[in-house]
Amino acid sequence: MVLVMGQDDKAKGMPSKVYAPLGTRGREAISIKECLKCGGADAVEVVEVGSNDEKSGGNILETMDYTVKCTKCGETYVVRIRSMYLESKEEENRLISTIFIVENGEEYWLGIL
Ligand SMILES: [Zn+2]
Repeated sequence: MVLVMGQDDKAKGMPSKVYAPLGTRGREAISIKECLKCGGADAVEVVEVGSNDEKSGGNILETMDYTVKCTKCGETYVVRIRSMYLESKEEENRLISTIFIVENGEEYWLGIL
């Protein structure tokens, strides 16, 4: 997997990279602008964004679904970001974000933000 660092965040708020913990070696940055099907760098475009908020006690669980399409191989898949906020959706109240790839209704854990 090619690492792409410090890219601009252009695609409607979709983060350009996520972090996958690597045990004792710290964490690895993964570009999610890179196609997960064919490996094409910077090949992925966001075609649709969906969001849903759920309240749970004082917390807000936000689910963002970015439907992406690869300009190289033509594959479409969903990048899902689940974020937990304390009381209100402000960056300073964000506890954690977890990123999944969704295929056939199944979530595959990719990394964290
Ligand atoms: Zn591709």
